[in-house]
Order: sequence, then C-alpha cells, then structure tokens
Amino acid sequence: MSSAIPTRADLAALPAYVPGRTIPGAIKLASNEVPGGPLPSVAAAIAQATSQVNRYPDMGSQALAERLAGELDVPTERIAIGCGSVSLCQQVVQAMCAPGEEVLFAWRSFEAYPIVTQVANAAAVTVPLDAGHRHDLGAMLDAITPATRVVFVCNPNNPTGTVVHREALTEFLDRVPPHVLVVLDEAYREFVTDREVPDGLEFARTRQNVAVLRTFSKAYGLAGLRVGYAVGPEEVVTALRKVYVAFSVNALAQTAALASLDAKDELLARCADIVLERTRVRETLLAAGYEVPETEANFVWLPLGERTVEFAQHQLEHKVVVRPFAGDGVRVTISTPEENDVFLDAARSFPR
Ligand code: PMP
Repeated sequence: MSSAIPTRADLAALPAYVPGRTIPGAIKLASNEVPGGPLPSVAAAIAQATSQVNRYPDMGSQALAERLAGELDVPTERIAIGCGSVSLCQQVVQAMCAPGEEVLFAWRSFEAYPIVTQVANAAAVTVPLDAGHRHDLGAMLDAITPATRVVFVCNPNNPTGTVVHREALTEFLDRVPPHVLVVLDEAYREFVTDREVPDGLEFARTRQNVAVLRTFSKAYGLAGLRVGYAVGPEEVVTALRKVYVAFSVNALAQTAALASLDAKDELLARCADIVLERTRVRETLLAAGYEVPETEANFVWLPLGERTVEFAQHQLEHKVVVRPFAGDGVRVTISTPEENDVFLDAARSFPR
C-alpha cells in the first residue's frame, strides 16, 4: 500500500549514513572496529547485567559519569554520557543551533557531521582539507560567520587519520569567538602516539567554549553496545542532557563501560599492537607505491580519487571489505597481522 503521508521534504536530500558492509566470510576492515572481542572480565560483567534487563537503565548513567569524572579530573556536571559519540554529535547540534544556524567542519571528515546537522535543521558549512589531507584551520577560521554556533575538529580525522598539533590548535582556539563551541572529536585518541597531538581535555578543562567527545567503541572495543561521552562547559552539558533520547544508553552499555575502565591497561595494550601494525601496513603500502598520509588512528587513508571504487571492488574480490568514498579515497581499518596481510596482498596485486 503506498502512502501519501508527507514527511519532512528536506530529508529526501539527506545523505544516508553508509555503515561498513558485513559480508559473510569476508574480512571487515570498513568500520574502524578493533579486532579483539570483549575481555573475559567485561563479558562477565555484561552477562551479569542481563539479569536486570527488565528494569530501565539509569537515565543519567550516573555511576559511569562519576567514574569518568574521577579518571579525567573534571566535575561530573561537565560530563554527558551518550548512546555512542555519534549520538552526542547530534545532541551538540540540537543543543546549540536554532534552525538555520551554522555548523562548521572540515571535509572530508566524519560522515555523520552533515547528517546530524541537517537532522537538527542547522546549516552545514564545510572547509576542504589541505593538500596534505589535514584540517585547514586558517580557512576554517575565515569560514566562521555570525551564524556559526559549532565547529567540529576531528582529531585524528576520520577518514584521513591526520592530526592537528597542539600549537596550531591553541592558536585556532585563541581566535575562535568565545560564543562558538569547538567540539574536539577524539574518537581515536587512544591510538595517538605523536606527542604534539594534544589531549583535548587540556583545553576542555580550561576553556569555556571547548567540548571533547570520546567513545568506548574503538579502543575499548564496545562498538556494538553504544556508549560515548562528552566533556564540556557545564551549560552545554546541561543542554546536551535536555536533548538526550531518554534511556538511550542501555544498562549493558553502562556496565560494560565501567568494566572496561577497570581493564583499561589491558585494552590499551591491545591498541599498542594496532599501532605497530599501522606502521607496518603504511610502510608496506608506501613501498608498493601508494600515497598514504601519516595516520594516528586505527586506519589508513588511500587517496585514490577516481580509482577508489575499483580498488574497493578489487579488495572485495579478495574477500576484504574496505570503506570507499567514491571519487575521493579508501579508508582501511588496521586489524590483526593475518588480516592486514590479506589486504596488503590484494593491494599489491591491484593493477596500477
Ligand atoms: N566520531 C568519529 C570521528 C568517528 O569515526 C565515530 C565512529 N565512526 C564516532 C564519532 C562515533 O562513534 P560511536 O558512536 O560508536 O561512539
């Protein structure tokens, strides 16, 4: 039965979020997940929590917020827990922007930014990455208008893996008007080894217009449970809580996040393995003649332009699922040495 019920006309133009594909039997390097499953201690905590799923979760994720406040040395009032940090991206726009007000971000960057902006009836303003696939902070400053309310800086940037250094970020933040919220999206923070990359919390603790987004999906291996957090000015956090979808951070996610913080050292050691593999994968690709920007995340970026889709198809024929952004490049998640080798073999056999 066809329906004539009208929905928001502008949603027709909304770019649909394209999740990484899962193909049975194939190696999935498309979603920046970590390859290791939950640690036994975390799995046990989740299993234990299932006995309570007839109850609603704690609406404010209070235990987790308090634990993070202690770990991060910020007041609990400055922490919002969200159903993944992607949910917090949307909450930020909803909490900050009246219809038509502007959200500024680099492009290409995290593909959810334009979506959450439009969903919230705000206007996206994008600034191209520079020739080195990095944020062009100077051009971003120039793109700030009286209507700008939020600036996303994704550090390291998804999908290029490139970073913004402390000095450049400090200079940028010094020049952004104080009423504009700068959101440092640090979903890949735990994979950063470059000491010049600042911990965004340094800025969130001391500045009135900076928020940091973090997630348990990547380094902490809880992508399937959906939990992330924001640290920001108290007024912003209060507003984030107002636009929160009630009970959207479920009880298993809250328990698993707490158990993961207990197992932090073990989980971060797994990230160190990924970092070693990241170096090996990039160097192998460079030796094979590919351009690969330096990356501080758990993925590499191959700016293959017009050959992007062809490369992804070639990988698929070798049972490897990568993430193509048509006409632009391919993002490939770093996995185990064995899985990375399958990808690298296929990359070497790609006709060039
Ligand atoms: N920010 C960035 C830059 C990301 O790449 C992702 C995940 N792809 C997220 C936020 C959201 O992660 P999650 O919702 O799983 O916390």
